[in-house]
Amino acid sequence: MKKLLGWGEIGSTMSEISQKHPRAESLRLRERISEGFKTGLVIPEGLAAHGRGEAFDYLLGEKTSAAAKEAIDAAVASLLLAKNPVISVNGNVAALVPGEVVELCKITNSKLEVNLFHGSSAREKRISRWLKKHGAREVLGAEKKFSVRIKEIQSDRRKVDSRGIAKADVVLVPLEDGDRTEALKKSGKLVIAIDLNPMSRTARAADITIVDNISRALLLMVKTAKKLSFVERANLKKLAKFDNEKNLQTSFERMLRGLDALKK
Ligand code: ATP
Ligand code: MG
Repeated sequence: MKKLLGWGEIGSTMSEISQKHPRAESLRLRERISEGFKTGLVIPEGLAAHGRGEAFDYLLGEKTSAAAKEAIDAAVASLLLAKNPVISVNGNVAALVPGEVVELCKITNSKLEVNLFHGSSAREKRISRWLKKHGAREVLGAEKKFSVRIKEIQSDRRKVDSRGIAKADVVLVPLEDGDRTEALKKSGKLVIAIDLNPMSRTARAADITIVDNISRALLLMVKTAKKLSFVERANLKKLAKFDNEKNLQTSFERMLRGLDALKK
């Protein structure tokens, strides 16, 4: 048994996975997500969503593509340029990359908000405590008195924090649902998504979609933010210019080549 890498000081003990295993990293992520399920951060639907992501990652050869790197530059530049940037966290994000998400918030001066598709106040509080254990100073989204509704969503899934997403100009929604991404867009925000499926509504509705596994993308975003925090605004603005449709097409073609290679 050993401490899971990348989980900072709080990593739980899990069974050791041999480095030689061809899917070692993927299996480690599975352990994190199932551990998150056992501790009540993740719900069963989250496990299924993760499996859908794994299938797309397989086609990417489980590597960050050049297209994803370009999207990461644009995303980080946009967060650094924003007036009120917010990073939205759900159960899967909390289970997979708690330390990275907190670090990215600090470097980009973003707020952190728990925002759940399948909301429950107990789970919001659990995720909030978990993020604080990983160094978050403030976590929004778990206090009823600050809860407001965005009118663009016609269901009970429209709750956001008045101090966070409600007044944000740029929102990073790793692993978000299509309806809510579209609603955030309609409410005038610049939306950044991380989604391994370049065909999902989320991927197509967002302004910047990073087609990569959140575990690799967040690590690279932290590194990129450290580098770009010294870059002047005029150059950040150039980096933030981004053609999402074209980038999604490039990621999709990368996956088709991945499929082709598997055939041979
Ligand atoms: P949409 O509602 O946007 O059309 P969807 O129904 O396919 O998309 P959901 O089930 O709402 O998607 O959410 C799961 C999405 O998250 C999938 O597109 C999946 O590829 C992606 N995903 C799951 N795990 C990861 C991960 N670790 N990193 C990046 N993306 C992931
Ligand atoms: Mg969906």
